[in-house]
Amino acid sequence: MDRFYFDHNASTPVSPEVLEALTPALREVYGNASSIHHPGQMAKQRLEAARGQVAQLIHAQPREIVFLSGGTEADNLALFGAVRYHPRERKHVVTTAIEHPAVLAACAQLEREGVSVTRVGVSSDGLVSPGDIRRALRPETVLVSVMHANNELGTVQPLAEIGRIAREAGVLFHSDGVQAVGKLPVDVQALGVDLYSLTGHKIYAPKGAGALYVRQGTRLGAIQFGGHHERDRRPGTENVPGAVGLGAAAQWLSDNLDAETARLRVLRDRLEAGLLQRVPSAVVNCSNAPRTPNTSNVRFEGCDGEALVIALDLRGFAVSSGAACSSGAVEPSHVLTAIGLPPQRARASLRFSLGRSNDAAQVDALIEAVASVASPHAR
Ligand SMILES: *Cc1c(COP(=O)(O)O)cnc(C)c1O
Repeated sequence: MDRFYFDHNASTPVSPEVLEALTPALREVYGNASSIHHPGQMAKQRLEAARGQVAQLIHAQPREIVFLSGGTEADNLALFGAVRYHPRERKHVVTTAIEHPAVLAACAQLEREGVSVTRVGVSSDGLVSPGDIRRALRPETVLVSVMHANNELGTVQPLAEIGRIAREAGVLFHSDGVQAVGKLPVDVQALGVDLYSLTGHKIYAPKGAGALYVRQGTRLGAIQFGGHHERDRRPGTENVPGAVGLGAAAQWLSDNLDAETARLRVLRDRLEAGLLQRVPSAVVNCSNAPRTPNTSNVRFEGCDGEALVIALDLRGFAVSSGAACSSGAVEPSHVLTAIGLPPQRARASLRFSLGRSNDAAQVDALIEAVASVASPHAR
């Protein structure tokens, strides 16, 4: 059986370019990047080259890139770091109802530690209103955290406007950019972010490697304690192969982003048109919002999303219902609930996320497979 992968927002395979960069990094580079001898300096040199590649992709300075273990750690460092730096009386965070659990669960822990958190809702189109963010600000607000692109819906938030509001208020601005990097051009200057999270395994680099952009001069408290690595932002011997893989993935995106995202947009539109035509009950969630070009969230009225995922898997198609992290949980997705879908409709939704391996023939095969499992006569 052929297997077709349509779950790139959950994770991606390592690309040929990344594998090519990783192999020598694993074989030949073994020194500790903090050591002054030749093997150490070799590692240091690879690490700094990778830092430059990641910085270039998001229009940052290399010194503003902190390598760490992935998106979850980047989000945690941004949130806890920002809160810990500030004195006790200034403790309020503004975020949204549709963030990834890496932000939402960190916020829940902040609340247990005495910080107040405001979770701003979104429209039925999955968009945060900058005015709502402005109205949520208080004199004691330390940080605003709004994700760039949503992992389930693909909706792209008006970050630049929110960035201006945060700056005027003198409040730090973090964005979880994990789902935007590789799918949209990202310019941290234009977006006005102080902190921006990204991870390797969503952009064809290995799992366990990510980065946090920290605008120069941003004051962050520590969340881990150890040596003086990563300009004192993230102690621990650097994962040089992980960084090299992330750097190679960033380099490929710097060179190919426009062409690849244009290709994915065509495929995504073909998928949606085909599904709407073949399955009369299908509705594309948030189709009117600005969205990442690879993501489509579709509900099939009357169906159960989990059952569809399993039926499609048996036919060789990997898709997702809700977020992968919450699959298996009986609760409907918090994101689909936040856009106002009642539980039954939220549970009837599937996420298709396209990537480098997909082509038009695969999309056509997917449309047929979905039509056969989601049509009323199939149930
Ligand atoms: C995948 C994801 C994360 C978590 O990244 P990890 O590297 O898996 O820890 C955070 N935020 C968003 C939006 C994601 O999609």
